[in-house]
Parts: sequence; C-alpha cells; structure tokens
Amino acid sequence: MTRLTSYGGEHADCEIVEPRSVEELQHVLARSGDRHIAFRGQGHAFDAQSLSGDLVVGLRNLRGLIYDGTTVHASAGEPWGAIVDGARQRGLFPHVVVTTSQASVAGTASGNCVSRFSPLFGQDGDHVRSLDLVTCDGQQLHCTRENEHADVFFGVIGGLGCLGAITEVAVELSQNKHDQVETHVLEVGRIGDVLTAISPSNTADGATRYAVLLPDLERGIAYSSAYTSGQRLAPYRPVHQPRSLYRLAGELLLRSTLGTRLVWAIAERKRAARYVDPIVDFTFMMDGNARLRRIGRWLGFPMRVTQQSFVLPVETTSEFIARTRRLFAEADVVPTMSDVLYCPSDRALLSATYDFAGFFISFAFETSWRSRRARIDAALTQASKECLALGGRVHLTKNVRADPADLAAMYATTLPALQQLRQRLDPERRIRTDFLARTFPMLV
Ligand SMILES: Cc1cc2nc3c(=O)[nH]c(=O)nc-3n(C[C@H](O)[C@H](O)[C@H](O)COP(=O)(O)OP(=O)(O)OC[C@H]3O[C@@H](n4cnc5c(N)ncnc54)[C@H](O)[C@@H]3O)c2cc1C
Repeated sequence: MTRLTSYGGEHADCEIVEPRSVEELQHVLARSGDRHIAFRGQGHAFDAQSLSGDLVVGLRNLRGLIYDGTTVHASAGEPWGAIVDGARQRGLFPHVVVTTSQASVAGTASGNCVSRFSPLFGQDGDHVRSLDLVTCDGQQLHCTRENEHADVFFGVIGGLGCLGAITEVAVELSQNKHDQVETHVLEVGRIGDVLTAISPSNTADGATRYAVLLPDLERGIAYSSAYTSGQRLAPYRPVHQPRSLYRLAGELLLRSTLGTRLVWAIAERKRAARYVDPIVDFTFMMDGNARLRRIGRWLGFPMRVTQQSFVLPVETTSEFIARTRRLFAEADVVPTMSDVLYCPSDRALLSATYDFAGFFISFAFETSWRSRRARIDAALTQASKECLALGGRVHLTKNVRADPADLAAMYATTLPALQQLRQRLDPERRIRTDFLARTFPMLV
C-alpha cells in the first residue's frame, strides 16, 4: 500500500501501478478485475480527483512530444513545462496553460483548466484537437469534436478521468514568439468598478483582463496583461516571480490571517502601474507556491490548502461576492487569495461553463489548522448553495465543498448524457475516484 496525497492535502492508501506504454496500460486494466480505479497524471489536483482507496493507475510515465506545425501531440504524462519549452523553440506558445509547469497535459484536459488568458481564448479543452482514450475494457478510441466519438470527446474534456485513461492529447498552439508579458494595473477600487474593468466588453485591445480581490472582499485590483518583447524588465516580484525570495516570504506570510492582511496591504500600497515579466515566470507563477509546499512537506508540515472556484452569471457576480463576504466573516476566516476572470462558454459536459459564460471566482485558504479548516469547509458549502441560488455552478477542478444535491442541480442539464457515456464505456463502474464518490454519487 502507498499513501498518495493531493496538492491540497487529501490522501488515500492504495496500490499504485504506473504503466510505461499503452500496451502495459491495457494489460493493467485487463488484470484489475472489479477493483475501483482512479487515473492520475502528475497528482496536482487540489481535491481527491486523482485518488482512490483501491487502485490508482498513474500515467505520468507515458511520455513523448511530437510537434507538427502548430499542433503538439503530447503523451498523457507530459508536464506543461516541457510542452512550453519545446513550443518556445518553435515560436509557439499555448493559448491557455495553467499556472504550474508540473501539471500533465492529460490532467489539465481532464479538468478543462483555465488561465489568465481564458477571457480571450477560453479553456484548455477549447484548444484540444483530439484525444486518445483507453477504456476500462481496453478499447482504444481516437476522439475529436467532429468524429464518431465526439460525444466521448466532450465527456472526457473536463470529465476528471471518469470515462477512461487518456494516452495522448493533441493541442493546438498559437504562433507567439514573444518572451515577456506586460501587465498594467487598470483599477484599484470597489468590487463593482473592478468587475466593470475586467468585463468582456473591455477586452477589445487584445490584452486579457483579470482581478484579485483584497481580503475584505470589498475592494480589488484589476489588471490587464499582454504578450510583448524587448521591454526593460520590471518584474512583479511577489506575484509573477516564482523563484524570488520575496515570493517565498510572501507565501509563508499568507499562511496566517495577519500575514495575509499584511501581504495584501503591501501589494495595494506598493504597487507599480506597470510590470514586465519573463513569459515563463508569468505563466507558471504558482510554481512558487508549489516550491514552498514541497519544502514544508519535506520538513513534516501538512501544508494544507483549500481552493474552490465558482462560475457566476455576470449580473449576479457582485451579489455572490457580497454573500461570500458575509459567510466568511461569520465563519471568521479570511481568504488568502481571491481572483476573478471572465470565461466564455464551452460544450464539455462537466464544465462549469457548459453553455454559459460568466465570471470565474476563486477563493484560496492556506491553513492546516483543523478547526479553521472545518469552518472554511462549512462556509464554502454554504457559498455553493448561494452560487446555485444565483444561477452559477461550482467548478470541479479545484476543491469542491458542496452538497451533492446542489451539484446535481447545477449540472442537471448534462449529467444524463454523462451517465449514458459511463454506462457505455464503464458499465461496471470500475472508475471510482474518492472525489466522484463524494460529489456525484449517481455517477459511481
Ligand atoms: C500550483 C497549482 C497551480 C494550478 N493552476 C491552475 C490554473 O491556473 N488553472 C486551473 O484551471 N487549474 C489549476 N490548477 C489545477 C490543476 O491544473 C489541475 O488539478 C490538473 O488537473 C492537474 O493535473 P495533474 O496532471 O497533476 O492531474 P492529477 O491530479 O493527476 O489528476 C487530475 C484529474 O485528471 C485525471 N487524469 C489525469 N491524468 C489522466 C489521464 N491520463 N487519463 C484520464 N484521466 C486523467 C484524474 O483522474 C483527475 O480526475 C493548479 C494546481 C496547482 C497545484
């Protein structure tokens, strides 16, 4: 038995098998009988999405990158850091890539992940051309959004590994030779003004827009960012510089309420109007957080984090933030980091933006204190109810603290189609992650 831990600190004791080829994977699945399986990439999910108390099939050893024009054919376990390295050598860059270089290409396709460029370019899955999937009975399916497996394609994107193991993802990259990102502060002020500054009608200049909310959730800072080259560097050290000592110190301070207030007070007062960062530092800015977590866990600290995202219609976002502000105040908890960006709609069945565009709002809490974590969980569960009442959905890729009945109501339009796909591709319900069992019991 091996103890596996998620990024947020959930854990499971299980057997882990890590095949090195598609044939080995088929062999593992054929031998696994009626065991409960979770597929796992690089294990960076916040919650228990890649954990099972029985058998975990790890796919990080499936490696290989082939660049063909503007498409990269990436084997499932390839981390985004390697894909970006190869892409940059060819004057290419991903449209949408998560803020850690460690997540695998199959992991982010399974989460239909978002980035700060999502207001312009949508989600990870919008740039996936095709997926190769091995189902529990060993069938290999090549899925695109147009071919005979299109229904499977939209179940696998954002589907958190519930239909089979992805072995390869073909991703469309953008032609982008820039090596820097220029960021401007657009607005510092009340939530309504900040949301207006990042609203979709304001992205005509080709720059993306997003915001952070200050810990009181009354005010925020709106930014715009665009790719550029040849500028004098003006790094945003505490945020966009994952390797800087400022960042490490900031990450440490963020683990306490007082430190959180201090960091954000400094961020607000000492801000510059403009920053220029190297493209890779900007892109993978959360590698700084991952580094602190690695050091902390190596020293024996649990380094737990809870991060939950919600998608709200544009018109109810302010009200949702006001309600969460009250919930967090009643629970006496302060989010370490809260951010907002606009995201267009898509067609993936388990995507929070299925057929619905809106503001993505994330709240992170960096604490390992048991009693505080219980209050955070209760407040987020209540926030999920408010999200439902205001016409939104909980995003399933980060932590999910929600009543399963509320999740079922949020995803009522697409769950029947996903259940049919499950019935067709995994009739014995062998794929059963701890996460699915807790959040969508009807799927397992
Ligand atoms: C520091 C950090 C920064 C992050 N930044 C962002 C961000 O900017 N935007 C965002 O949206 N998310 C972000 N995330 C979340 C992260 O990108 C997702 O959790 C992603 O799924 C992690 O990929 P992984 O390879 O580590 O997946 P794992 O944790 O291994 O798995 C995640 C899910 O994908 C499934 N899966 C993985 N590989 C396969 C496969 N080969 N076949 C079938 N299913 C598979 C698993 O079953 C599971 O459901 C961040 C996470 C961290 C820790």
